[in-house]
Amino acid sequence: MEYTVEQIRAEISICDYVRDYVDFGETQERCSHCSDYGKTWSCPPFDFDPVDFWNAFDVLQVYGYRLTYSGERTLKEMEDALWKEKERLDAELRAMEPLYPGSTSLSLGSCRLCKACTRAEGGTCRHPELVRHSIESVGGNVGKTLKDLCGIEIEWAKDGKLPEHFVLVGGLLRKENGNETSY
Ligand code: SF4
Repeated sequence: MEYTVEQIRAEISICDYVRDYVDFGETQERCSHCSDYGKTWSCPPFDFDPVDFWNAFDVLQVYGYRLTYSGERTLKEMEDALWKEKERLDAELRAMEPLYPGSTSLSLGSCRLCKACTRAEGGTCRHPELVRHSIESVGGNVGKTLKDLCGIEIEWAKDGKLPEHFVLVGGLLRKENGNETSY
């Protein structure tokens, strides 16, 4: 199996994003079926209002990768490649934070920093300063975001046929005055 990686980029004001793409009730319902729901501090339910979280910033930069697969492959091989690229994208997004003062990255999936998250045991987070939320965990509609802002439809395995593409999407939430700093 071979695959190529294409960069996904888009930018939208938080005001427009919250109005047109954020519906926490809807995403929380979907998240509630996930095994990570309520099991890590990066996932809902939260003790804060997700809309307040978005509104602390001015701009959402959408960052992602679109993987295009070719050749003979299994779903497992595709997912292995996806996990590898997910780690690369997560690291890329975190590395952008210092370049934009006041920014925070939006991760891909739930927090995996510790071997076992303390939330399930009722403890407190070991590294709250390092926890990042995914777009969907705080109410962002990823499918609509990709379709409207990037012209990309999410593909799924269907009727035993594997998709040609997988997509990874995270982002960077920036303050308006948080221009890029070069070091
Ligand atoms: S940093 Fe550790 S304790 Fe905190 S959310 Fe992540 S896995 Fe859980």
